Amino acid sequence: MREPDGPEYAAPPVRTEADRESAHRGEPEAPSRRAAAVAAVVLGALLVVVVAVMTPWHPLPGGRVAADPALDFTRDQIARSKAFGAALDPPAYAGLAIGLVVALGLGLTPWGARLLGVVTRRPDPSGANPPLRLRALRLIAVAVVLSALSRLVTLPFAAWSESVLRRYGLSTQGWGSWLTDRLTELGVSLVIWIVALLALHLLIHRFPRHWWAGAAVGGFLLVTGVFYAYPVVVEPLFNSFTRMPAGPLRTDLLRMAHADGVPVRDVLVADASKRTTELNAYVSGFGSTRRIVVYDTLLASQSPKEVRLVVAHELGHAKRGDVLTGTLVSGLGVAAGACVLYLAMTSPRLLRRAGVRSAADPRSTALLLATVTVLTLAAGPVQNLMSRHVEARADVHALDLTRDPVSFGAMQRSLSLRNLDDLSPSAFAYALWNTHPSGPERIAMGRAWARLHHVPVPAPSVRP
Ligand SMILES: [Zn+2]
Repeated sequence: MREPDGPEYAAPPVRTEADRESAHRGEPEAPSRRAAAVAAVVLGALLVVVVAVMTPWHPLPGGRVAADPALDFTRDQIARSKAFGAALDPPAYAGLAIGLVVALGLGLTPWGARLLGVVTRRPDPSGANPPLRLRALRLIAVAVVLSALSRLVTLPFAAWSESVLRRYGLSTQGWGSWLTDRLTELGVSLVIWIVALLALHLLIHRFPRHWWAGAAVGGFLLVTGVFYAYPVVVEPLFNSFTRMPAGPLRTDLLRMAHADGVPVRDVLVADASKRTTELNAYVSGFGSTRRIVVYDTLLASQSPKEVRLVVAHELGHAKRGDVLTGTLVSGLGVAAGACVLYLAMTSPRLLRRAGVRSAADPRSTALLLATVTVLTLAAGPVQNLMSRHVEARADVHALDLTRDPVSFGAMQRSLSLRNLDDLSPSAFAYALWNTHPSGPERIAMGRAWARLHHVPVPAPSVRP
C-alpha cells in the first residue's frame, strides 16, 4: 500500500515491488521522456522565434557600422586597455573553467552523491519513507553544501580579479566589504536554490513522471519573480538610495522622461562609490513606482549633459519594455531548460554516472547543478548577442532624445577609458562577456546617427 507521504527516492508512484524495481531502472519513463523532449524542442523553437523577432538587429538604418579604436584612443590608451584585459583574463577564464569542472565532476561522477550523502544519509534501499520535514531539511542541507562549495571554489579567482581591479583603480572596496558582498551573494543564491529545490522536489514527489511540466511553469514564474523583485529586494542589500535633491538636473531629468512618454516618480542616487568607480544608471519599477536610479559615481564625474545622455539611454530601455522582453526570454529559456533537466535527471546513463537511482534522491542535486551549469554557460552568448543589440537600440534612443552625438561620443570615450573596456575584443571574448557593444562601436554608431540625421559628425578625438 502507498504510504501517506509516498516514496521518496523512487521516482514513480509505487504499487508493487516489481514496479518499484522497474521504476528505479527508469523504464516506464519512456513516454514522459518523449513528452519532455517534445516540450523542450517546442519551447526551444519558441525561444529562437522570440529572440529572432524581439532582437533589434538593425537599431540604426544602414546596417553595421565599422568601429576603429584608433580614431578616438591613443596608442597608450589602447595598450593600457589591452594590459588590463590581459591581467583580468586568467582569473576570469580560470574561474569559469574551475566552476565548470567542479560542477561536472560532482554531477557526472559518484563524487557528488558521496559528498551529499554525508549530509543526507544514505537512503534506505527498501524504500524508507522519511517524513516531509526531514526531506525538506535534507534538501536545504544539499542546497547549502552545493551553493557554498560552488562559490568557494571560484572565490580565489574572484579575489584575484578584484585585486586586478584594485591595481587599475577600478575598485574602491576594502577586503572586508568585498567579502561581505560575496557572503550576501551567497545568501541570495542560497535562498533561490532552496526555494527552487523545495518546489522541484514537491513536484517530483506529487508528479513523479510529469514534473518537467510543473518545473517549466514554476521556473518561468520564479524567473519572472526574481526579475521583478531584484531592484526592490536585492539591490538595497548592496546599495542605499537617497532622493536626488531638487535642482536643475533633477527637474531636467524628470522633464525629459515626461517628454519621452516614460513618466517616472522619482530620481534616486545610489551610493555605489563605496565599492566601485563604475558609472551606471537604470530605470526600475513599473507604472507608478517607476524611478530613475543614478550612481553617485556618475554624478561626481560627469557633466549634467552626460548624465542626461545616460538617463536618456535608460529611458530607451524603459520605453521599449526591455526588462519585460528580457524576462520573457529568460523565462522561456528556463522553461526549456527545465525540460532538458528532466531528460538529464531521468536518463538512466546519467543517473548511473551520478551514483543515484532517481531524481527524487536529494543527492541527485549534484547532477542538477552540472546540468544547470552547462545550460547557463550555453545560454550566455545568446543572451549577450541579444543584449548588445538591445543596448545599441537604447543608444539610438538616447541620440534621438538628446540629438547630441558629440557629447554621446565624448561620453562613450570617457566611459571606455574609465572602465578600461576592451576596445577591440576577440570574437570569443566578445561573445562570452560583452553585454554591450564595445566603446569604439558605440562611438561609431554615434557618428552614423549624425550622418543619418544631417547634424555635424563628431570629429576623431585623436589626430593621426
Ligand atoms: Zn543599457
